[in-house]
Amino acid sequence: MQDSEHSSPDQRVMPLIAETAVSGTAYSFDMLFSYTVPERLAADIACGCRVLVPFGRGNKRRIGVVMKLSEGDGRGLKSLVSLVDDTPVISGELLGLAFYLHDQTFCTYFDGVKTMLPPAMSVSAKETFRLVKNFTGTASLSREAAELLELLSVTDGGKALNELIEKHIIDNGRRLTDELCDAGALDSDNVFRQTVGDAAVRMVRLSDEYTASPERFSLTVKQKAVADFLGEYGTAAVKEAAYMCGVTEAVIKRLCATGAAEEYEAEVLRRVEDHADEVRRPGDIVLSEEQQRAHDAVYAQLSEKKPAVFLLHGVTGSGKTSVFEKLIDDTVNMGRQAMLLIPEIGLTPQILKRFRSMFGERVAVIHSGLSMGQRLDEYKRIKRGDADIVIGTRSAVFAPLDNIGLIIIDEEGERSYKSDSSPRYNTHDVAKQRCACHGSVLLLASATPSIESYYLAERGAYRLLEMKERYRNAPLPEVSIVDMNLERGEGNRTEFSRRLAEEISANLKNGEQSILLLNRRGYHTIISCCDCYQPVYCPNCSVPLTYHKKNNRLMCHYCGYISDPVTVCPSCGSERLKNMGFGTQKLEEELSMFFPTARVLRMDADTTFSRYSYEKNFTDFRDGKYDIMIGTQMIGKGLDFPNVTLVGVLSVDKALYAGDFRSYERTFSLITQVVGRGGRGDSRGRAILQTFIPEHYIMNLAAAQDYKGFYNEEIAIRRAMIFPPLCDMCIFCFTADEDITVRLGAEAVLRLMNARLKALQPKTPVRVLGPVRCSYGRINGRYRYRIIMKCKNTAEMRGFISGILTEAAKLKEMKNVSLYADMNGDVGV
Ligand code: ADP
Ligand code: ZN
Ligand code: ZN
Repeated sequence: MQDSEHSSPDQRVMPLIAETAVSGTAYSFDMLFSYTVPERLAADIACGCRVLVPFGRGNKRRIGVVMKLSEGDGRGLKSLVSLVDDTPVISGELLGLAFYLHDQTFCTYFDGVKTMLPPAMSVSAKETFRLVKNFTGTASLSREAAELLELLSVTDGGKALNELIEKHIIDNGRRLTDELCDAGALDSDNVFRQTVGDAAVRMVRLSDEYTASPERFSLTVKQKAVADFLGEYGTAAVKEAAYMCGVTEAVIKRLCATGAAEEYEAEVLRRVEDHADEVRRPGDIVLSEEQQRAHDAVYAQLSEKKPAVFLLHGVTGSGKTSVFEKLIDDTVNMGRQAMLLIPEIGLTPQILKRFRSMFGERVAVIHSGLSMGQRLDEYKRIKRGDADIVIGTRSAVFAPLDNIGLIIIDEEGERSYKSDSSPRYNTHDVAKQRCACHGSVLLLASATPSIESYYLAERGAYRLLEMKERYRNAPLPEVSIVDMNLERGEGNRTEFSRRLAEEISANLKNGEQSILLLNRRGYHTIISCCDCYQPVYCPNCSVPLTYHKKNNRLMCHYCGYISDPVTVCPSCGSERLKNMGFGTQKLEEELSMFFPTARVLRMDADTTFSRYSYEKNFTDFRDGKYDIMIGTQMIGKGLDFPNVTLVGVLSVDKALYAGDFRSYERTFSLITQVVGRGGRGDSRGRAILQTFIPEHYIMNLAAAQDYKGFYNEEIAIRRAMIFPPLCDMCIFCFTADEDITVRLGAEAVLRLMNARLKALQPKTPVRVLGPVRCSYGRINGRYRYRIIMKCKNTAEMRGFISGILTEAAKLKEMKNVSLYADMNGDVGV
């Protein structure tokens, strides 16, 4: 018989090693960091658990996620501190997806996993210390530790103590503090702090006390302004109130602290449910012949349980949503799960109401307008299996479903499906990856598919489905092009052609609704100098400040800078300043001049700071509380307003010259979609397209709603110029505090690239363009340059890019420069 102590299998087994994605690393030195797993954690640890690890020279605590577990030689490795979760928060499939994101989008491993979790679960670690009272072991401490303890004992504890320790650790590492903890002189606690989340739905209202007796509160001028505003409007989103009163959010915080007002969270979910009054049954959907054909093709594939991609090209009003409903019902009836992705948060209430009325509580919703708590609840409902239908915006593609049958991407050509912060993924690619894993169908749908998707459909990589008629054969709106040059020539200086003015009058008379679309570019009012011709710029960004009449302030839409209107030109000192550009605000003035009785709803960044008012406005418009809605692209897409019979498109010409290769596509899509909002009810829709370039083929193709014609023109240009989808385009974006710093950095990286490319000699040609200043050369105080690389997105090329990013960080010219790479990202920013 052997001594059981020595025969324990544990003795022979190699230690567990956890390869961990660690938070707060930079791409250039990121990797999976290996830690040994202490025995007390070995039973509970699993891949997908969050852990606390010691990191760097100071061994500061950081959050990580276990990506791989193996047995190995643990010598020289640090040991994990603790487990945050005792069951994985990320499934094996999603961990695989994190590796995919790391490989495809040049993000850190941690950014890859973090994006799978609702924001409330991205905790950060904070360590706090306490001195142990009556500690008696000083004699056994090293001299240095005893000195440190002496120093700590004279603080009055709490905050001062912790600040001192933090500073000590940064300067000297953890050796002494660890010694004190081990000896029992110090106690340490790891507090997991949840990151503070989405402010978008934080609301504010006056307190009852204030409403009853305002004189009992002594408020500052700014606080009083907010209180008066709330007195008039009732409630508002915090952001909105700050905006309207021209104050920072801190003023509102302090107002609440006086007890005069209170903050609360808008309950987006409950509000939506309240509206779901009628109950519809999936069995009641009767598809038209065309809809049925599209449905049947996808259904056949669903039954196969093999991955495939369909592109559903259906004209506006063809009833794509009905096809989705039927297919989603089929999918859940097969015991599988379905996901419906939509491009904009503003579309969720309408679509959610529709799906809740049919599928009830089985529908979960994920988008950034929900509070952190709501997002966490929905996440848990999905994880538990209580919800088998997920509706949401881009990030919902990571929903923790485990048996996906169908993923639908509606309005698939929208750029919002491409993430513009790390991880810089494209939703289509992630969805494909998940479909491959689950053997599921990906259904892309739009009236104006992206050139990329249609190209793939043409080449047979996607299966093309078409719906060419509107539901119930409602005719497409009748579109007229109005030449604004003629209007000007005949002395009409307003933004309304006579034709459009007549049509609006007619609609007002008939009690029908109208939509007016403006382009975002050039609709802002800016202040410009009559002597030096300079606009008044934001001090932090190379963007002119926008004048907002509602609050009489100049504002920067990029960094949030606010100032009072200026009276003197900052460039030359001249006092001859004038308002330039044409905003919705100015348009509104002209509208009220022409149509004094019309009820006008303005939808733009000014009025829609909060998601809350965004939804409310659309609902009010739909319910007939307004006659006319004016706004930018946000009103153009996806919404169904049965009483709209007139669509006016004003000033979108400039959008054609936005300076990137997608501007034609964007403009065509915008016009086609907004025109398609009209005539969905019983009466035929009309659309008026005002332009200074009436002969331009984009205007004519959009007026004819001829997507195929547009596609043919556009793909020919892309082919001739070699733009996506004929190649891939990787954007390298450089930023720094000084213009010269970022330029020298970008030039150094360019030299590095060229040298490496020579050695690499890739199979397909690579073209490097730049560096050039970005369209917005400075944002938030940071100067920006970019290099564009036309290439093929192959494993070899990605290896090359990853290598450049890593090596660039070591160049002395890059010392103060940040750099990221964005595969097929946007060029126009
Ligand atoms: P799309 O998204 O293709 O532009 P929608 O899905 O918004 O079109 O449909 C347009 C209108 O036609 C909606 O009001 C919708 O309710 C109606 N509709 C479409 N298909 C059907 C159907 N099979 N049964 C009943 N109504 C339908
Ligand atoms: Zn000037
Ligand atoms: Zn700015």
